[in-house]
Order: sequence, then structure tokens, then C-alpha cells
Amino acid sequence: MQQTRRLDILPDDLVIKASVQTDAGCVRDSNEDSGRHVSPHDTEALAARGRLTIVCDGMGGHASGEVASQIAVEAISELYYSNRDLEPRDALRWAVEEANREIYEAAQTDERLAGMGTTLVALVILGDQAFSAHVGDSRLYRMRGQTLELMTTDHSQVMEMVQKGIITMEQARDHEDKNVILRAVGTNPEVEVEVSSIFQVEPGDTLLLCSDGLNDMLEDVEIEAVLASESDEYSACQQLIEAAKHNGGHDNVTVGVVTVGAKLTAPPPEVRITREVEAL
Ligand code: CA
Repeated sequence: MQQTRRLDILPDDLVIKASVQTDAGCVRDSNEDSGRHVSPHDTEALAARGRLTIVCDGMGGHASGEVASQIAVEAISELYYSNRDLEPRDALRWAVEEANREIYEAAQTDERLAGMGTTLVALVILGDQAFSAHVGDSRLYRMRGQTLELMTTDHSQVMEMVQKGIITMEQARDHEDKNVILRAVGTNPEVEVEVSSIFQVEPGDTLLLCSDGLNDMLEDVEIEAVLASESDEYSACQQLIEAAKHNGGHDNVTVGVVTVGAKLTAPPPEVRITREVEAL
């Protein structure tokens, strides 16, 4: 299992903690998912662009899906921060479009990579505001209070049928075409990226990004139960992956959990601990 963990504390900023973990699951011997949390040490970049979390679910034969999802994560986390000309939402859209181009071109030049692509969900938290970008069926959820809310609409055949009222969300879960996605990054010269409106984050919020290996295995109520019982982002990721594997783990599973804490009004905890130790 790979994982990354970051804790960044800046004055006048909400305390954002994040963990991204990925697991091949119980059935597949390779992991074509990729994920990352980026929290720049450069305070200027942090102030201008905020923190970025990405989850990608690659697809294609001969492990090319792994290549596609890795290119997407690398390209977007680089390009989003390097472009300061555009507004943040436009910069994220542009970064995904550029990643699309990179993957598409790589697939044209190497026949082993032909047809590779990836779904993607990316979340930016900038101050107390947030927005997402997604392509395909990787998802963003928000847990506020005890309620889990799906923030993205899958670009999938079954979700279109749900929106047209042909089937219910419940029927979509078990539909034979549930894995047919209508958009992916890298499979065509151009991609249509869905960028959300800006929404506020509040202390206590938990944002969850995931590949379908999580939400195919776990009902919303099961995801909700894990997030409600785990306040720590690292163990929440672990528990979600364990639960997906417990339920079968048929697919690679990648989970990004981002928790929003209150603004710091006291010195960072490390400093307080040192003082307490000294006082003893
Ligand atoms: Ca998948």
C-alpha cells in the first residue's frame, strides 16, 4: 500500500490534513490507480493556488492504465501550480486538458500504450473555498455533520440513465453497464473537463476523493459510517480500503481523505508540546 500524508499549518488558514492511499485490491495483480496530495511549501504558491488532491483510475491493456494515471497526476500537479496567468479554476481545467494531450500523444507513439486513458477527480482547497474537476466516474464526496453528499456526477452511461429518470441510483449500482464511462482523459485529442462551482469549506468538513473501486464495493451508508467513526484522515483512508477489500475488493481502490479543521488561534501544536515538556 502506498500512502502520502501531509500536515501544513499556516497563520490565518484552516488546518487542512490529507491522506491519499491506494491498494491493488483482492483480485487484480497490478494497480492502475494513482493519487497524490500536493501542499506547496512555497507560501506564495499556497496562497495563489491552495492545496490539490488528485485521484486517477487508469485503464488500458498491459499496465498502460498505470502509465496514463501516473502521467495525469504528474502533469496536473506540475501544471496547475506553474500557470499563474489563469484564475485557479481555469488553471485546473487547463492542466487537465494538457494532461489529456500528453497521455494521448504518448499513446500515439508507443503501440503498447495505445488506447490508454484515465478517469480523474481533483479537488482544490484555497483558503476557505474549494472546487473540483472531474472526468469519468472517479468521485468527490463531502461529509458535513453526519451526512455524506456526492458532489460529482459520473460521466457514465448509467448516470445519464439516472438523470433521464430511466433507472434509479440503486438500480445503477447493479446495472450490467455500470462501468461504461463516457469520458476519459487521454483517449481522444480533446477532453471535456467538468469543473465545479466554488463552494465553501467549513471546519469539520471531510472531503473524500475515490476511484470506483471504493464506491462499487461500499454503499454510501458504509462510507458514511467509516468517515463518521474515523476523525483521523490517515486511518479513515485505511479503514475505507479495508472495508472495500472486505466486501470483495474486485478492483484497484484509491482514496483521498481531506479534513478541514478550525483556524489556528494558538501556536502550532509542536510548539506547545515542547513548552509543556520544558515546564516539566
Ligand atoms: Ca477502477
